[in-house]
Amino acid sequence: MDYGHALEFGAFITPTAASPEAPVILSQVAEASGLDLVTFQDHPYQPAFLDTWTLMTFVAARTDTIRISPNVLNVPLRPPAVVARAAASIDLLSGGRFELGLGAGGFWDAIEAMGGTRLTPGQAVTALEEAIDLMRELWRTDQRGGVFTDGRYHRVHGAKRGPRPAHEIPLHIGAYKPRMLALTGRKGDGWLPSLAYLQPGDLAKGNATIDEAAQSVGRDPREIRRLLNVGQLAADPREFAERLARLALEDGIGTFILAGDDPNLLQRFGEDIAPAVRELVTAERAARGVSEGPVRSAAALAARRDGIAYDDVPAGLHAIEPGDFEYGDVRATYMRGGSPGLVLQPASAEQVAAAIGFARRHPELPLSVRSGGHGISGRSTNDGGIVIDLRRLNEIEVLDTERRLVRIGPGARWAHVAATLGEHGWALTSGDYGGVGVGGLATAGGIGFLAREHGLTIDHLRAAEVVLADGSIVRTDAANHPDLFWAVRGAGANVGIVTAFEFEVDEVGQVGHAQLAFQVDDVAEFLEGYGRVMESSPRDMTMFLLTGAPRPGQPQIVQLYGIVDSDDPDTIIARLQPFAELAPLVQQSVQLTTYAQVMANADLGPQHGAGEPHSRSGLLAHVTPAFAAAAARMLESGAVPFFQLRAVGGAVADVAEDATAYSHRSAAFSVVALGSRADRLDEQWRTLADHVAGMYLSFDSSERPERIAEAFPPATLARLRAIKAAYDPTCVFRDNFAVEPVQSDAA
Ligand SMILES: Cc1cc2nc3c(=O)[nH]c(=O)nc-3n(C[C@H](O)[C@H](O)[C@H](O)COP(=O)(O)OP(=O)(O)OC[C@H]3O[C@@H](n4cnc5c(N)ncnc54)[C@H](O)[C@@H]3O)c2cc1C
Repeated sequence: MDYGHALEFGAFITPTAASPEAPVILSQVAEASGLDLVTFQDHPYQPAFLDTWTLMTFVAARTDTIRISPNVLNVPLRPPAVVARAAASIDLLSGGRFELGLGAGGFWDAIEAMGGTRLTPGQAVTALEEAIDLMRELWRTDQRGGVFTDGRYHRVHGAKRGPRPAHEIPLHIGAYKPRMLALTGRKGDGWLPSLAYLQPGDLAKGNATIDEAAQSVGRDPREIRRLLNVGQLAADPREFAERLARLALEDGIGTFILAGDDPNLLQRFGEDIAPAVRELVTAERAARGVSEGPVRSAAALAARRDGIAYDDVPAGLHAIEPGDFEYGDVRATYMRGGSPGLVLQPASAEQVAAAIGFARRHPELPLSVRSGGHGISGRSTNDGGIVIDLRRLNEIEVLDTERRLVRIGPGARWAHVAATLGEHGWALTSGDYGGVGVGGLATAGGIGFLAREHGLTIDHLRAAEVVLADGSIVRTDAANHPDLFWAVRGAGANVGIVTAFEFEVDEVGQVGHAQLAFQVDDVAEFLEGYGRVMESSPRDMTMFLLTGAPRPGQPQIVQLYGIVDSDDPDTIIARLQPFAELAPLVQQSVQLTTYAQVMANADLGPQHGAGEPHSRSGLLAHVTPAFAAAAARMLESGAVPFFQLRAVGGAVADVAEDATAYSHRSAAFSVVALGSRADRLDEQWRTLADHVAGMYLSFDSSERPERIAEAFPPATLARLRAIKAAYDPTCVFRDNFAVEPVQSDAA
């Protein structure tokens, strides 16, 4: 029986304590010889051996590419909840190079002597099965709540999940007897016996037991790799290779792990024997028509969604399906839960084109485009559709130091952008949160702490690389496809996928970063005061206001936070003083720091948003008494736990209203209200409607199409519709405030 696994070769090295460097050096030899795996036996009761976990960690630090595994771990002396964390940790630290060989125990006298519990063979199998379930559950960090198990041998009571390993750590089980073999078939990723302990025919019998158990739970037997610890089976290299090839072709062995602490032997194994075995097996498999591709598990196949031609995903394009380990970390966004049928992660503009082509062959399915996953509308995920996730396109490159011209991929986050530009003494005006992605923000506007002095992010865009709906890759700037360049700056989601942005950035030195909290009795008066002070402040000052529904029995707290773009403490204090006089300050922090430090405020880890966000946005000429009173009433209603006013104006308003698809440049403020219920939020938002003019797409989650007319004034909308008709006539890009394509001369 040949399961068609791609062949792998490893080393089984004695963890000798007498010469502790020896196993480390042998591991390095194994790596240099091209071996795939280095493994160590685990006998924690054996004083002649180094502790296996400690050794594996050390080896991981002293090697670069070779994978590392215990062979096999003594689970009775290793609490599985701790093993799960240790395994995930070494996997993270080694860049996904860890595998886990597991054993049920043995040597019970020694185990008991070390404080372990003596188990019968049957009990040990049950204990191992419980351990496997528990470890896998602890790695499921996309699930909420702690882990509770009530096993006979392993119980946890609310153990916290995580860390999540860098990759799905395969569990290889050291099994000989039927119960262990059956467990391997049901739950293992690999079978790991030693040839020395097997009789002729045992491999075939073991395989049959494993396969039957696998099939009994709906698994494909090919999901289980067959590994084998071997000695030097023949002195003659050719004969050695032929014997291994026979084991591969007749007994389905996919991984050969050579025991022996001889560096020369390891070198020959990696450099001569392994290639010879591969050659023999490849030739025979070709003759027999056995394919070597990776096997997608039955569980993963069952998790596939209807209507997606999964097997037709373009070659080389990284695809994550609902049954994949990575899925839990890519299904949701920061603001919203989701369950897409397929997440494609292109690594180049060409792959983005291929992904668009694939999506176009599924016109009935939702298509979401994602860069940093912080879209407030949450439309960069969906249910059952396709997501084109641009996180791999995250390069930040300086193109021209003189002109301060930089090229940034859409998948970069603003924290990284600020840190990289900060090294040159530069900054690019962005949003206020380092976790937000470049792609979503830089195609919509970009209202941040430097806005009044340096304008919107889109105002710094000099060129963009865009993949259009038909898959063509174009460069757009003021001279090339100027209509597209106009649309990208404010309505980019409508016209294509931007795969690179070229920005001209500013010199920005140290800044004053202020965070002030006020106790406010009269919210309307405070809002008005904030608006007045803000508008009369010099442009180097941009402050945002944040508050929410009053909490019963507690004073209303309003926060002001932002930046004074100056490294002079006196200037910073002078700018802040008028705000400080608006109401009693209950907390204050003012720091002289860098823009990069201000933007280092985000968790850049996986996003596990749940539910639906409900957010409404408006742009506001001035904070008038009528607006302030309406906003105070809205807050009083309790429907808006998050309310924000952001200063715009200044340099934003220097740009002509029709220069970009982002409009309403004369507005001095942006208003945002978030609520947990859309109906209550809308009821309250209507009370502000008379006071706001315009809306910022990035802060709104409305589904109602008429809101598009609030984002784009009539002439802008007409021009945008014509551009949509030219570049995306069939509305491939329709997930995010899509405008209707209409032919017109206006473009
Ligand atoms: C905590 C937080 C703070 C924020 N602060 C600010 C702020 O200070 N200032 C501000 O202006 N905004 C801010 N925003 C809003 C933010 O700018 C938008 O939500 C933006 O769309 C997020 O970009 P993203 O790439 O992370 O989002 P994603 O969710 O990845 O994308 C959002 C949408 O943008 C479109 N899109 C994404 N990438 C591309 C691309 N490469 N080409 C074409 N279209 C694309 C898609 O239609 C997608 O649905 C904030 C959001 C959050 C959650």
